[in-house]
Amino acid sequence: ARKAAASAPLTPGALKDGTAVPLLANLGKPGGAAEAVELGAEGVGLFRTEFLFLSATQAPTVEEQKKSYVELLSAFPGKKVVVRALDAGADKPLAFLNDAHEENPALGLRGLRALRASEDILREQLTALAQADAETEADLWVMAPMVSTVEETTYFTELAREYGIKTAGVMVEVPSSALLADRVLQIADFASIGTNDLTQYTLAADRLLGSVASFQDPWHPAVLRLIKATGDGGRVNGKPVGICGEAAADPLLAVVLVGLGATTLSMAPTALADVRASLLQYTREDAERIAAAALAADDAASARSAAQDAAETAG
Ligand code: PEP
Ligand code: MG
Repeated sequence: ARKAAASAPLTPGALKDGTAVPLLANLGKPGGAAEAVELGAEGVGLFRTEFLFLSATQAPTVEEQKKSYVELLSAFPGKKVVVRALDAGADKPLAFLNDAHEENPALGLRGLRALRASEDILREQLTALAQADAETEADLWVMAPMVSTVEETTYFTELAREYGIKTAGVMVEVPSSALLADRVLQIADFASIGTNDLTQYTLAADRLLGSVASFQDPWHPAVLRLIKATGDGGRVNGKPVGICGEAAADPLLAVVLVGLGATTLSMAPTALADVRASLLQYTREDAERIAAAALAADDAASARSAAQDAAETAG
C-alpha cells in the first residue's frame, strides 16, 4: 500500500460521481503527522491522546499537553483535526484513573465516564486544547469517547464550549448512542463512529479476547444497522458523521460505510491509498445499493459476499 501511495495522485477522497468523502488519518502521536500528510491525509479524524497519559503516574501538566497539541495542529494548517479526549479504561487502563478491581472494565468507569469522575483531568485537557487552538491555524474539533447517553452528550458539549472549543462531538461506540443518534446529533456538532468498540458492544464479545475474536467483525449486519441509524441521525440534523474505527480501512467496507451515511472516513495512514482508489470506482447510488445488500444479510460473511456481488455489477 505504501508503494502504491507514492505513485498514485493524492487527490481528495471522492466517489466516482464527485461526491467528496474526506479521507483523514488516525494518529496516536503528533510525530506521525508528517507521514500522514505525505500519504494524502486531508486532516485528522482521530487523534488518540492516551500516549500523553499512559506512561505517567499522574496526569501530564497543561503545558506538557499543549506542546503536543501545538505540534499536531501545526502540521495541518486550515485542515480539520479531531482530537479525542482521554479514553482511559478497559483496553487502555490508566493506574491513576481507573479502578483495577472492576470485574468487567469494558462495562465500567471508562472513557467519558472516567473523565467525569476525575473532571479536573478533563478540564485541564480542554484548557490545553483551547490554548493550542488559539496559537495554530488548524480547524480543531474535540470529541468525547464512549458516550452512551444523551445526557452525557449535553454534559460534554457544554463543557467543551465553556472552554471555547467551537466544534464539540461524541464518539458513537455504544449501541445506545447509535440508536439515539437522532437525539445525540441534535446536541453534538458531529459524531464519529468507533467501529472497534461498537462491534465489541453490539456482539457482546471482548475485543481483547482471542476466543471470541470471530465475533469482532464490523461487517456484521447488526453493526451495519447501527451505523445506518447514526448516519440517519446525522442526515436529519444536518451534522457530519465520520468513521474512525478499523472498519474504514477495508476498501469495500469503506464504500458500504459511505452508503450508510458516513460523511468522512479516518484510518491508519497506510490504508488511505487503497480506500481512495476503491471509492473512486463507485457512485453514491452504487454505494447505497452495495450497502443495502450488506444490510440485508444475516451474518458478517454473507454481508461481505453480498456487498462484493453488488459491487461487481456497479459502475
Ligand atoms: C474504536 O473503538 O473504534 C476507536 C476508534 O477507538 P479505540 O480503538 O481507540 O477504542
Ligand atoms: Mg473505542
